[in-house]
Amino acid sequence: MENKTEHGGISIELEHIFPIIKKWLYSEKEIFLREIVSNACDAVTKLRRLISLGEAKNIDDAPGKIKVELNSDAKTITVSDDGIGMSEGELRKYICNIALSGALDFIQKYEGAEDSTDSGIIGHFGLGFYSSFMVSDTVDIITRSYSGGPAVKWTCSDDGEFDIIQDFDGADDYIGEHGTAVVMHINDEGEEFLSSYRLRDVLNKYCAFMPVEIYFEDACAPVPEETDNEENKDDKAETPINDIHPLWQKNPSECTDEEYTAFYRKVFADYKEPLFKIHLKADYPLNFKGILYFPRIASEYDSLEGQVKLYCNQVFIADNIKEVIPEYLLMLKGVLDCPDLPLNVSRSYLQNSGYVAKISAHITKKVADKLNSMFNSDRENFESLWNELKTFVEYGCMRDSKFCERVKGSVLYEKCSGGFATLEEYLEGAAEKHEKKVYYTTDKTAQSKYISMLSKEGIEVVILDKLIDTQFINTVEAANEGVKFCRVDAEIADVLKEDGDCTEIPGISDIFGKVAKEGTKVEFERFKDESTPAILHVSEDSRRFEDMMKLYRMNGVAGMQMPGSEATLTVNTASPLIAKLSEKCESDPDLAEKMAKQIYTLCLLSQRKLESDELCSLLDDSFGLLELL
Ligand code: ADP
Repeated sequence: MENKTEHGGISIELEHIFPIIKKWLYSEKEIFLREIVSNACDAVTKLRRLISLGEAKNIDDAPGKIKVELNSDAKTITVSDDGIGMSEGELRKYICNIALSGALDFIQKYEGAEDSTDSGIIGHFGLGFYSSFMVSDTVDIITRSYSGGPAVKWTCSDDGEFDIIQDFDGADDYIGEHGTAVVMHINDEGEEFLSSYRLRDVLNKYCAFMPVEIYFEDACAPVPEETDNEENKDDKAETPINDIHPLWQKNPSECTDEEYTAFYRKVFADYKEPLFKIHLKADYPLNFKGILYFPRIASEYDSLEGQVKLYCNQVFIADNIKEVIPEYLLMLKGVLDCPDLPLNVSRSYLQNSGYVAKISAHITKKVADKLNSMFNSDRENFESLWNELKTFVEYGCMRDSKFCERVKGSVLYEKCSGGFATLEEYLEGAAEKHEKKVYYTTDKTAQSKYISMLSKEGIEVVILDKLIDTQFINTVEAANEGVKFCRVDAEIADVLKEDGDCTEIPGISDIFGKVAKEGTKVEFERFKDESTPAILHVSEDSRRFEDMMKLYRMNGVAGMQMPGSEATLTVNTASPLIAKLSEKCESDPDLAEKMAKQIYTLCLLSQRKLESDELCSLLDDSFGLLELL
């Protein structure tokens, strides 16, 4: 039979589209495969639906197969399906005259702009079938409708000119009784996709969970002698590349721990076991499913960046879309399937969508509920995981007050004496000694003198030694009125003091004024502990301010040292050593100065690491003092 060919030109708008597709979608050109394969998926799903409705009576074989064939010699990638297919009329309607609404918006918005500042945004618009022209100079569609009628071949080049062959007699080489094949003749820009590895990679990224079986075939792969080899088997297209029933679609009660772990390992290629998971399943009106995993963080230096993959009906859309998932939850790993999202979502749609805000709120609630239920049902296990969860929970609390409100009862503080306490437990335990105050250390070793003084008096000190901790306590203070965190060296706790004389001792202020850093204040208190002659401290507020300056590198002056101008040296009026120093101020001012300097430097040492010059002079001075013996 002779094929009847008709020549045509695609609707006027398309002339605009081609150059724009090439220019703007360039950086995400791999999405062409997602678009073409998901169209094939839709075609199969549509036909299945028609069959189930009894509207496709003449079809006896159940559809359900997509083939992606690479022929690097012929420079083609062919995606064929056994779905609904198209009649000539449908092809003209759907392909030649594409519903341009989305695409036209896109063009109006971006045409004329000089450069693509956020290719991510543009990628999300997508252009469905026409994205194939990002990588092809010619695309053929060979299709036969399920409803009967002849096969049609449509060939379009990247200038928008097309030919239609009605009654195409070569269709059997591409499709069966019904279905569509899209043959992309790959251009220079699409060269990379002619690599079998690259193409598989893209398929795995976008199509790993599509709901119709996808088989990959490399027509140019060397024919293996034996087909035992797994990889060769794959090339022979015996196993689908995708999992059509991903775990998130199942009922949580039907999933085992092993399945959750296996799924995690497969999707995230992380061989550490996750700490735990949350299976999300929201019905009407939200309608989304997913699984979120808390990754195990091997060390503090491990990247905290998670990966939350967003799907729409099992078709991968993108990673880490912060408009859908609260930013702090991006530290998690997981999958989220939101069927009500358009496949080509734009950032502005997401930002303004009430639906998305509700998803986000729902996830926040579920995550907080899970943490609370772990805390309540198995505290021991929760404590064992705490150090790995901590950063995430603290960050979440800082970013989201609702989350903070929900989980605050489950936030733990590690105690210097061992074990953990919640804020409530800590305050309850300390109620007799001090009210609404939490003593903490940022460095258990460097601040051990202060810690031991407090623990001698029965005061518990908690460890807050991560960078985020010091910012987190601002959040806790804001959320709990009256509660104040106080670093161990920030003040002399009332319980350490004793009633009695704390007036200035003669000569002491002057002598410390001479040896201490400029700006150091000298005060007098009577300590219960006689053996400590003096203590150096820096007020909590000014230290936090200085820490913040450092964090934002605002101090600028290299080597600017703590304690800064706000340091106070509190001299113990009960100390026999101070009494001796006072005597020496009279009788031997030289020795008094040496003693005072030694006391001051030792106070400094118990507060922080010494600078090299400070350490050298401490050693020299100590040897000098020993010589006096
Ligand atoms: P969208 O998929 O967003 O509607 P496309 O440009 O990708 O936009 O496709 C336009 C239309 O062409 C589809 O809606 C569908 O009707 C038809 N179509 C595309 N691919 C196929 C296919 N493999 N089988 C049947 N129809 C298809």
